[in-house]
Amino acid sequence: MSLLGTIILSVSQPIVAQTESNRDNITIHNYYTSPPFEEIYYYAIETEEGLILIDTGRLLSQARYALENLQQFNKPILAILITHPHTDHFGGLPVFLEAAGRDIPIYASQITFDSIQSDGRGYIENRNRQLGQDFPDLEEIPLPNSIVEDGQTLTIDGVNIIAYDFPTNESDTTTTYYLPAQQVMFMGDLVNGNKTPGLFEGNTGNWLNTLREIQQRFPDLQQVYPGHTKPDSPNVLITAQIDYIETFRNLVSQSLENDEVVDDEEKQDIADEIERLYPDYETSLLLPGLIEININGVAEELKAESN
Ligand SMILES: [Zn+2]
Repeated sequence: MSLLGTIILSVSQPIVAQTESNRDNITIHNYYTSPPFEEIYYYAIETEEGLILIDTGRLLSQARYALENLQQFNKPILAILITHPHTDHFGGLPVFLEAAGRDIPIYASQITFDSIQSDGRGYIENRNRQLGQDFPDLEEIPLPNSIVEDGQTLTIDGVNIIAYDFPTNESDTTTTYYLPAQQVMFMGDLVNGNKTPGLFEGNTGNWLNTLREIQQRFPDLQQVYPGHTKPDSPNVLITAQIDYIETFRNLVSQSLENDEVVDDEEKQDIADEIERLYPDYETSLLLPGLIEININGVAEELKAESN
């Protein structure tokens, strides 16, 4: 371990590696990153011969810490699967690729590829300004080298993983990764448990459609793996996410009714009501004012829907 690595570890918050029960011939590990900024969960599917990573977290320092945890398994990284084009899901890529020491597949959908490459929403530039050395520059971020199609089956070390791409919801797209033998699904940020979701991209209507579609198409799902909260059953996580988004949309819709505007007082009322209904929900410190930003995004969306 280099001196630099030691320093970074000492300022990083602890990340607890948790191991779930064996599912056939695989084990799913999750890496829990605690605040200061936010909780991010990233996952490793341990197969007989190696590790398949789902998302990489945001900070380079946290990725290095997680990598140390992964090294206990003494297995090579076989592939990295990216769920969606938000910085907290691919910022750690350089660390894991360097550790792999060779070209490995980085799977993502075409939409995710395009969104990272263009940085059309400016997320990479923003994070770079905010986080400096702890977040890679645009040119340092390795682009996905293996584009997955909707419905494509990836077989990695004998484990079947089906990629399903759901465009336009929490982000420009979410690629879920479904393991049919184990009936589990990695869902990115389509579900968030008690973490305040980012509704600001203004696609909550289609996000609800996506969640209902998953409920219908995968009635036998046993467990879902989210990006910011601990894995749980779809009955818990998907149902809770639908409830939150519907409630939020209704509140914004009510205040738009008279004058098509959500004024400051109404914003405060919505925020208070959300706080009352979901008192234990947490927000990333990297997204100050998230509720207000969410209100603005949903208000624009609802106005566009009614026109
Ligand atoms: Zn996220």
